[in-house]
Amino acid sequence: MYDFAYHKPSSLAAAVSLLSADPDAKFISGGQTLLPALKHRLNKPTSVVDLTGIAEMRGIRREGNKLVIGALTKHVEVATSAEVKAAIPALAQMAATIGDTQVRNRGTMGGSVANNDPAADYPAAVLGLGATIVTSKRKIAADDFFVSMFTTALEVDELLVAVEFPIPEKAGYAKMRNPASRYVMAGAFVSKGPMGLRVAINGAAACVFRQTDMEAALASNWSPEAAAGVKQSADEMNGDIHGSAEYRAHLVSVMAKRAVIAAG
Ligand SMILES: Cc1cc2nc3c(=O)[nH]c(=O)nc-3n(C[C@H](O)[C@H](O)[C@H](O)COP(=O)(O)OP(=O)(O)OC[C@H]3O[C@@H](n4cnc5c(N)ncnc54)[C@H](O)[C@@H]3O)c2cc1C
Repeated sequence: MYDFAYHKPSSLAAAVSLLSADPDAKFISGGQTLLPALKHRLNKPTSVVDLTGIAEMRGIRREGNKLVIGALTKHVEVATSAEVKAAIPALAQMAATIGDTQVRNRGTMGGSVANNDPAADYPAAVLGLGATIVTSKRKIAADDFFVSMFTTALEVDELLVAVEFPIPEKAGYAKMRNPASRYVMAGAFVSKGPMGLRVAINGAAACVFRQTDMEAALASNWSPEAAAGVKQSADEMNGDIHGSAEYRAHLVSVMAKRAVIAAG
């Protein structure tokens, strides 16, 4: 690891001004992605701004027909929250399957969503539920947030503060894990609710995306068979030592079918 300065502000404004003053600084939340990147020298920030002292970024609360989850909420807190289990059980179930015990006890929703790893779980829920990202500057619809691999609409000095999830009538998630890393090879999050019928696919391509052919098929026939009947093209799927593009394309239909079964 290289040397870097360390700051721990206690307000959003202070965190933002530290980043505005130094474009080579980085935010850190759970450190489950950033610290390995620093150790491998993939990232070389001049300073690290620790967000864990900012109270405004914490907490899970129900506000009418939406669930608001603070960016600093750890995966284990989402997995075990009675509020999340009651409102969006698929989200709690998803959180319970992220990484391992250590990752779930340190990693945060905000860090995962801001990082936009193609193989991460939460981006599928955010896009699949049509959530809204609350930042230190504005609100961004999920459809406009995930731009490309490890890239989002967030600006360098913009903080992800919370995610607002509309509460769906039904939702389900299924994924095929890489047996070694446990990251997603291909996953599908389906939902029906105030944001319409949505199918988000993660793990399979460079960035989480909506499978609009499946959404159309499920809109006319909400059934596992309708999801499985839509074949994903392999054209823009990831292909690597863990699985070919054709294999991942096949998994997309299988995971969507299982997600619809999970949703009920
Ligand atoms: C062994 C292992 C297994 C894992 N398995 C999985 C898995 O199965 N599924 C899965 O989804 N993830 C997995 N992860 C990743 C894990 O979920 C991380 O917690 C998550 O990707 C990043 O969250 P974090 O809070 O640790 O972020 P950090 O590592 O602190 O930060 C990640 C990035 O986001 C930025 N950032 C952090 N918080 C904010 C914010 N509030 N606003 C703006 N930018 C911010 C940082 O600057 C950094 O660039 C795994 C990680 C490890 C180490």
